[in-house]
Amino acid sequence: MDLHAHTTASDGTAAPEDLVALARARGLAAVAVTDHDTLAALPAARAAAAGTGVEVVPGVELSVDAARGQLHLLGYYVDATDDRFLQVIAAPRAARGPRNASIVERLRALGVDVTLADVETEAARGASGRASERSVGRPHIASALVRKGVVASVQEAFDRYLGEGKPAHVPKTKLTPADAVRAVRAAGGVPVLAHPFSLPAEDRRGVITDLKRLGLEGVEVIYPKHDAKLREELTALAREFDLAVTGGSDYHGANKPDIDLGTGRNGNTRVPYSCLEAVRERKPR
Ligand code: AMP
Ligand code: ZN
Ligand code: FE
Ligand code: FE
Repeated sequence: MDLHAHTTASDGTAAPEDLVALARARGLAAVAVTDHDTLAALPAARAAAAGTGVEVVPGVELSVDAARGQLHLLGYYVDATDDRFLQVIAAPRAARGPRNASIVERLRALGVDVTLADVETEAARGASGRASERSVGRPHIASALVRKGVVASVQEAFDRYLGEGKPAHVPKTKLTPADAVRAVRAAGGVPVLAHPFSLPAEDRRGVITDLKRLGLEGVEVIYPKHDAKLREELTALAREFDLAVTGGSDYHGANKPDIDLGTGRNGNTRVPYSCLEAVRERKPR
């Protein structure tokens, strides 16, 4: 099973139906579709899964304000027909347009020959549906740079230009923790802290304390970048704060070539079905 995967609706390279086909080929009982700021992949994923025995878990990944590091919140089982929720996630998604334009401007100022049209082309690759429903981000810019021969890999694009502290980095519009957790719960969803490695170690307990007060229900413990020690620490925190333990590979297809669906990196991310049952038990009533 895998509870964290991206599709072409955001910055993954697998179309929703390809993700489901891969889940099936890997023998996974369930796969959660957790695109950034959009639920657009769900109808196609569900349709592809019908009759295959693969359970598609609806989800979303939201970027949330943090004092330091990157704070991402997963929302499982959000209602894709909830207009208020769709409005909440449309705002940061729309803000990506001007942000991407400003990243491209910085790259051009650095002498890199790339245009917003190149980025749009990458974002449209393999994607279907309305462009306004898609979430366009740095991996698309990175792919444009690879295609232009500016860099050899998506990772090199982040390391040289796009990553935090690099010359073409532009911060993203994020939701406040309170807005994000509340919106997920109000839409019938289960809020889970994604990949805590991306927060400074000394901030993790405080962030979990604050989010728990707001209604957090789980922590993503099983994750490719989490070693055994971190998984132990996070499991202990989950127990202390009465949070469900979850996990996922954060599959992005060719944008993260070392990560495979259902197994992570070198088989280090296998998530038992009981994690999904624990999430389901925490749906708001
Ligand atoms: P964005 O939402 O546009 O800020 O892009 C965020 C996505 O970029 C993440 O979900 C990762 O897939 C990828 N990403 C972020 N930071 C890095 C990094 N340092 N190296 C490689 N990929 C990254
Ligand atoms: Zn991503
Ligand atoms: Fe994330
Ligand atoms: Fe992710």
